[in-house]
Amino acid sequence: MSQCVECGAVLSVPICCDHCGAIFDPQPGTDHFSLLGFSRAYALDEERLAQNFRRLTAKVHPDRHAQRSEEVQARATRLTADLNRAYAVLSDGVRRADYLLELTGGPTAAEERGVPGDLLAEVMEVREALEQARGVGDRRTIERLRQVNESKRRQTLDEIAALASGIETASVRQRRRLRLLLNALRYFENLTTELV
Ligand SMILES: [Zn+2]
Repeated sequence: MSQCVECGAVLSVPICCDHCGAIFDPQPGTDHFSLLGFSRAYALDEERLAQNFRRLTAKVHPDRHAQRSEEVQARATRLTADLNRAYAVLSDGVRRADYLLELTGGPTAAEERGVPGDLLAEVMEVREALEQARGVGDRRTIERLRQVNESKRRQTLDEIAALASGIETASVRQRRRLRLLLNALRYFENLTTELV
């Protein structure tokens, strides 16, 4: 842990001093986790995350630094945006998994665009069945398709959480699997909006 350059107190987060209230630009390479006072891991206490976010947002709030130099005021505005961005990612399980995968070496969404197994063929089949069911006004089939899709979406979310939780020791194959599942989620979500 580094020390406050203004008062020498030990910093619990890299962007502000609990002791004197000074605020700092984060060092290059500071990730969303450390910005909000967490270590780099998928599992996190969401209540503590929200608390830290609120506490830090209050400390860096531009109103609180309105009497300081323009440089400090600009920093306050920047840090507020940084905190909002970090919180938006970390408070969403899927975005957190995606971010963690990227942070620890990928593959990123740009590097691996694939989806698991026969997903694309399955999605096409669902769309065909949906079209047929709509044609004859078969609400029961549409409802069944919706339930199957929802259960696949949930299974995918569960597997994403399990793989992301073990990211530190994940094999290359597991990391790729996590990326494929994150990519797959979009298809299930699109179907969710279609299956109504
Ligand atoms: Zn200080």
